[in-house]
Amino acid sequence: MTTPILPPAMLGILGGGQLGRMFTVAAKTMGYRVTVLDPDPNAPAAEFADRHLCAAFDDQAALAELAQCSAVTTEFENVNADAMRYLAQHTVVSPSGDCVAIAQNRIQEKAWIQKAGLQTAPYQAIRQTADITAKSAVLLPGILKTATLGYDGKGQIRVKTLDELKAAFEQHGLVDCVLEKMVDLRGEISVIVCRLNSDNVRTFDPAENIHENGILAYSIVPARLSADLQQQAQQMARRLADELDYVGVLAVEMFVVGDTHELIVNEIAPRPHNSGHHTIDACAADQFQQQVRIMCGLPPADTRLLSSCCMANILGDVWGANGEEPNWLPLQNHTAAHLHQYGKKAARAGRKMGHFTVLAADSEEALATAQQLHQSLTSLAK
Ligand code: ATP
Ligand code: MG
Repeated sequence: MTTPILPPAMLGILGGGQLGRMFTVAAKTMGYRVTVLDPDPNAPAAEFADRHLCAAFDDQAALAELAQCSAVTTEFENVNADAMRYLAQHTVVSPSGDCVAIAQNRIQEKAWIQKAGLQTAPYQAIRQTADITAKSAVLLPGILKTATLGYDGKGQIRVKTLDELKAAFEQHGLVDCVLEKMVDLRGEISVIVCRLNSDNVRTFDPAENIHENGILAYSIVPARLSADLQQQAQQMARRLADELDYVGVLAVEMFVVGDTHELIVNEIAPRPHNSGHHTIDACAADQFQQQVRIMCGLPPADTRLLSSCCMANILGDVWGANGEEPNWLPLQNHTAAHLHQYGKKAARAGRKMGHFTVLAADSEEALATAQQLHQSLTSLAK
């Protein structure tokens, strides 16, 4: 057992978006110092970080600075593997570059999930037009997803016929793709696992995720799912983390499929996740505190849910066309709603600007209140 890293050590993070910002707040609150690497001069995390290295993620000089930190983590999966390897030669890096690399590529990711003995949607890797054969037809209707760089439903085309599949592959620019069979989706959930080593693993209760236009809109906890399935979902997530010998915070997205409510794994994210933002206001320890703790070699803390809740994303869509602020009054007036803004300068449609979490007696009530409060954001005459 190595000695834990204690405050006021300097911690480093690759990426200074909202996840990096909430990580920074958690770390600073505990008394650590934080260095953020992000090329954006207005990076959301920079407002709270001790140090902002405003440079490209593969900038050698900036990486050398980051390597001076006592430990380094990341807020996103599309980090250059070489950068991770370089950092790992000089300091403690979690999660490992290998785990991050798996989550970068849907083909590898699905193979790993199945290797861990868990189900995914039936799929086929499509790397060249010749891979599209009569056999592919059993996966139709399906979704053609690019193997890398997809998020918020981007890089996905729904296809019904082999001709549509070929056209979609061309539309994706003939890059590596995964063809996935459309499954009979009855719900979407995610489980966040916090793992230091095999003896120190904790999971948060599953969140039930509701998307709008391919982007997460609401997460409710507890999920409206039987206790058995909730437990099964947590065991599955844990199994994946164990299989990867994962160190850090891992989000596992799952689908609830068909009448039998079978759980299959959709994808993993090697970091805190949007569907875990409720943990800040509704859990004993939140996902960002866990990220700090684990990178410092400390065991994950209590993940217990203290109140039923609903997290709602706030997208740039609720700002006026000329940047007018949303109507914050009803939300701010509500005594069970907790507003978190990411300090982003420009509001654009589809851009995640903040979120709020509503605590309530049960998750249905929390969802209803959150939906009502979300509506009120646009209630000003524009
Ligand atoms: P995000 O960034 O929100 O995680 P993403 O771009 O990584 O999105 P996926 O999570 O793979 O993409 O898919 C986005 C959404 O599309 C899912 O949340 C789900 O609603 C739907 N979807 C994806 N795959 C399937 C499938 N095989 N069958 C049915 N629906 C699917
Ligand atoms: Mg997803």
